[in-house]
Amino acid sequence: MSKSSFTIKKKNDRKSLTADIRDHVVYSLSKEAEAANERDMGKALSLALRDRLVERMIQTRDRYRNVKAKRMYYFSIEYLLGRCLGNSLCNMELLDLCEDIFKDMGYDLDEVRASERDPALGNGGLGRLAACFLDSLATLDMPGCGYGIHYEYGLFRQSIHDGYQKELADYWMMEGMPLQLERPDQAVIIPLYGKVVNTVTPDGDYLPMWMDWDDIIGVPYDIPIVGYGGKTVNYLRLFAARASQNFDMEIFNHGDYIRAVQRKVESEMVSKVLYPTESVSFGKELRLVQEYFLVACGLRDITRRFLAQNDDFDEFASYVAIQLNDTHPALTVVELMRFLVDEKRIQWGKAWEITRATCAYTNHTLLPEALEQWSVSLLEKVLPRHLQIIYEINKRFLKKVAAKYPGDSEKVRRMSLVTESGSKKVRMANLAVIGSHSVNGVSALHSKLVKTRLFPDFYELEPGKFNNKTNGVTPRRWLLKSNPVLARLLTDAVGKEWITDLSVLKRLDAYAQDSEFKALFMKAKRENKVRLGNFIHSTLSINVSPDSIFDIQAKRIHEYKRQLLNVLHIMHMYIQIVDHGNEPLSPRTFIFAGKAAPGYWEAKQIIKLIHSVADVVNNNPRTKDLLKVAFIPDYRVSLAEKIIPACDLSEQISTAGTEASGTGNMKFAMNGALTIGTYDGANIEMLEEVGEDNFYLFGLRQEEVEQTLTAHSYRPREVYNNSFEIRQVLGAILENRFSPDDHDLFRWIVDKLLAENEQYMHLADFQSYINTQGMVDKDYASKQLWAQKAILNTARMGKFSTDRTMQEYAEGIWNIKSIKG
Ligand SMILES: *Cc1c(COP(=O)(O)O)cnc(C)c1O
Repeated sequence: MSKSSFTIKKKNDRKSLTADIRDHVVYSLSKEAEAANERDMGKALSLALRDRLVERMIQTRDRYRNVKAKRMYYFSIEYLLGRCLGNSLCNMELLDLCEDIFKDMGYDLDEVRASERDPALGNGGLGRLAACFLDSLATLDMPGCGYGIHYEYGLFRQSIHDGYQKELADYWMMEGMPLQLERPDQAVIIPLYGKVVNTVTPDGDYLPMWMDWDDIIGVPYDIPIVGYGGKTVNYLRLFAARASQNFDMEIFNHGDYIRAVQRKVESEMVSKVLYPTESVSFGKELRLVQEYFLVACGLRDITRRFLAQNDDFDEFASYVAIQLNDTHPALTVVELMRFLVDEKRIQWGKAWEITRATCAYTNHTLLPEALEQWSVSLLEKVLPRHLQIIYEINKRFLKKVAAKYPGDSEKVRRMSLVTESGSKKVRMANLAVIGSHSVNGVSALHSKLVKTRLFPDFYELEPGKFNNKTNGVTPRRWLLKSNPVLARLLTDAVGKEWITDLSVLKRLDAYAQDSEFKALFMKAKRENKVRLGNFIHSTLSINVSPDSIFDIQAKRIHEYKRQLLNVLHIMHMYIQIVDHGNEPLSPRTFIFAGKAAPGYWEAKQIIKLIHSVADVVNNNPRTKDLLKVAFIPDYRVSLAEKIIPACDLSEQISTAGTEASGTGNMKFAMNGALTIGTYDGANIEMLEEVGEDNFYLFGLRQEEVEQTLTAHSYRPREVYNNSFEIRQVLGAILENRFSPDDHDLFRWIVDKLLAENEQYMHLADFQSYINTQGMVDKDYASKQLWAQKAILNTARMGKFSTDRTMQEYAEGIWNIKSIKG
């Protein structure tokens, strides 16, 4: 095969960039230069940037092709990208130049960048992880791309009315998305519905025929993903559903042309909207179709690319790795089997070998309500042939299990892909486990629990395939781009190397005792606090002091994350000041941000509670200079980038054993916040890295939580009876001190916290939590001590770069390598 090498024409100097931006204003936007506003300039810059990214994307593709590199495809139903323009400029190292160019043209690049809408095609941690992975893969020059769904509506926007969350539709492409490339030439056709007719070949072999199916077209949109330094540009390929041109002939023949078209157009619903919750299974037909659509589009794309360079599928797994981000794309296992067996006529055993060697599965949650199950009747309707294949996989698998454990019918029942309790359902997690050669959790503790709590039978059968890959975050977006003040200071201290090798920050250890550096570090922190303070003032009209402790909990609102525990502490401080005259050493600003799933009543009530407490605390003359509470609406990546650099104290307070890893915890610590946290998820590994003197640990351990709850021996009433502080706080709620105009509004909280075996054990951890908060107050009063701890947090977070995570996946699971130019 001839080696191709594309040459780059677009230059990155001031003159060519300026000319290209001006050209795009005229030729792409059809405007005269004088009439262009900030938003137009943003589009023109994005288009000029896209030209450059596309050239490098072609070059990268050639580089991979020329060495016939093995590629990894990341299958994820969510990508929480955040704004792309600033990030791509940053990775291309064009940010300063473009700032200059725009200044010359009379525009402020920051304002231009702020006009970009966040592509929020994800709910939270799981989708953001996928986005961080893509950044690291490109930075490491690794052939790894993302596959997902091009949702027309991303995660809902949150607005607050009278303290309650309201959801608004997020039509994120309203202003266009100039960085993406539509690829109608690479569209694929996806069959679904219909029926299976069982026939035999002329040789007498069983030949199932999937007939009378409907079809949808998947049109790819590529978003270029540029690595730091601009050498490698991979892509995120998102499929949009389009109606095919094949009419339902029956309706058509009845002369109802419009209805026939309408039926087709309805198939475009598939990529219309992202489901607004993670950690919950849906059981809704549209969601199943979305999951299948992603998998079917992705696999068609992959096999087409594979066949362009290969003739048969024996070596498929030597060139293709597919990572399943949670069970949402678990149908990959079935669709690949269907393709190999039905379309390529490969013998079952061989096909199964190929499939398992190709797929790997990442588990993201231990919450039982999150484990996906699809009813057999729904699968039969939507994917009749796939259901047959699931049964066949199950039959062969259970035969092996039964042979290995003769007489253990309980074990066979537990391991079956199909649960018979109630209506028949397929367990997607079991499917993902047996169809993969690797199963990983996302922190050391979580991976242990995946083996012992979630899949003990599967672990016993195949212990070798279970492994851990602790999450990370990309230091490009979460430090270099979001915190330029600190980034500059770090580069001055240790050199630029940290940007692509975060472990280099260890060198800062030496500066933690240096009073000049401490002053600079805290000056940077203060600048970020002033900036966030101004933002809070302009959006909420709340005055906050940059000299108070910025105590922040920003993440999805969920009972297991225990925003309630945080609020109980605020109430406790309030009561101490107002009723007892006990003032803290330092004033505090409690900042919250996070969305609640629209159907999650308790989570939405917690948002109301935070606002009600804010009303009381912020306006009482006794507390208003000591305590402030601010809920910043519409948490999303661009808001996280504003909030995180300004944080002193990061709240990571989930009940031990519930947070798989967390990644918010890493972003905060990297930016010099101290963590108050439980022994849960990646907190444990962060504590190991930063040292216990630099981490505020509190609360029960996972083993203690599990023992107590499984023995049904948690008695919150006893805790209540033994604690004066708890009685005071819950008493204040019952006395309506935080709901003076709406009596009994929060009574449910007291009832819930006192309910027997309350599953998140809020009150059990309360005393330990407020004691530890007291230590925070004491330590913060010593500026030198606090600065030292903050610096050591930034210095010792090297492990939590997704560069490290991706290297571990590449070596341990995917067997892919860096392909450098
Ligand atoms: C990092 C991030 C999350 C995940 O936060 P956790 O604290 O790990 O739950 C959620 N949403 C956004 C916008 C993020 O940037």
